[in-house]
Amino acid sequence: MFIANQNFSRLPESYLFSEVARRIREFKGANPESEVIRMDIGDVSLPLPECVVEAMRRAAAEMGESATFHGYGPEQGYDFLREAVARTDYNDRGIPTISPDDIFISDGAKSDLANLGDIFGTDVRPAVVTPAYPVYIDSNVLAGRGGMPENGLWSGISFLTAGPESGFLPSLPADGVRADVIYLCYPNNPTGTVLPAEELRKWVEYALAHKSLIIYDSAYEAYITTPGIPHSIYEVPGAEKCAIEVRSFSKTAGFTGVRCGYTVVPRSLDFTFADGTKADLNRMWCRRQCTKFNGVGYVVQRAAESLYSPEGRKAISRNVAYYMKNAALLRSTLLGLGAEVVGGVDAPYVWFRPQSDLDSWQLFERLLHRGAISSTPGVGFGKVGDGWLRLTGFNTDALTAEACSRLSGISDIF
Ligand code: PLP
Repeated sequence: MFIANQNFSRLPESYLFSEVARRIREFKGANPESEVIRMDIGDVSLPLPECVVEAMRRAAAEMGESATFHGYGPEQGYDFLREAVARTDYNDRGIPTISPDDIFISDGAKSDLANLGDIFGTDVRPAVVTPAYPVYIDSNVLAGRGGMPENGLWSGISFLTAGPESGFLPSLPADGVRADVIYLCYPNNPTGTVLPAEELRKWVEYALAHKSLIIYDSAYEAYITTPGIPHSIYEVPGAEKCAIEVRSFSKTAGFTGVRCGYTVVPRSLDFTFADGTKADLNRMWCRRQCTKFNGVGYVVQRAAESLYSPEGRKAISRNVAYYMKNAALLRSTLLGLGAEVVGGVDAPYVWFRPQSDLDSWQLFERLLHRGAISSTPGVGFGKVGDGWLRLTGFNTDALTAEACSRLSGISDIF
């Protein structure tokens, strides 16, 4: 008899972004003349850089000739891309410990963040800093590690609350709180905060001392502008023994629809199986990928490789500057309206709370109904986010400017 995975029935009814989309549809249905500005979007608005399109054309032409056709590629990714990543994103930035053998090319950060659970032991307890990108929690729940839902939390997951009193910076797990796998995301989605080097060092020291694995989601590292803020966890000595880093080309180069990223699983990771024998996580992840994944398309990997050319570097800088200008405008507008604001300096996300007692969904409705602006309710990222909203810098500059002028007109919450 087939039995369905009961964990699906424990997850809340609707995924945050579908609920936001549903409410926007409902509003548009009732107000067809109103142009809603999507400030909730995590998707990008700039098209692919010219060098990427050109690389895709060249690779597509190769695929059309028998002499240069590529069938199944290596599951870990082609050497040309793994080498470019290791050299440019790590070695040239003063991190000699990472080599191409540590890099696995992915179809984006989301799949790997969820799939990494395949290499966890059965009794591992995840710890998630909240508010958090929902994938860390939901993927653990689906895999049976969530335990039972309890007041918006899960009995099987340790929640490390990073709330407004600490400026949304997380504290290390308190004594007695188990954190076998720790999810950290910096620059943070949704709060836009970053971890200074001395803070990140504490997490690495904690992980080494407690034999915890850190999963470091640095999908937004390119958005860091403040000097001295670590771009990679491997800037901290010892991290290569306890951390996996996950990155994406989605937000830097418009790859949200192309799908490509990479995950660093260092060969130097130092963990064991339950029986005490040494576990080689790099080989395990390779085995996992070879079993369940057939690699990223050749054309896509050539497209990603082009981002490491001088033109590619310039295109990324241009994109980041464009979105960060939007984020800065949102930030200054909200500050000017008297809201409490974090983010928008080293990340494309602006996280704010007006001086009001409304909860996140009430605020969401206010912005939608009074300003035709869509936002993401902070509570969707965890209870601690209630009363907050997230806006993104990913829309066009013209629509961002229009949204800012509409925000200024919503007088009953600001
Ligand atoms: N990690 C974070 C924190 C994100 O915000 C996102 C996307 O919004 C992802 C990962 C997923 O990125 P990708 O498009 O590479 O799957």
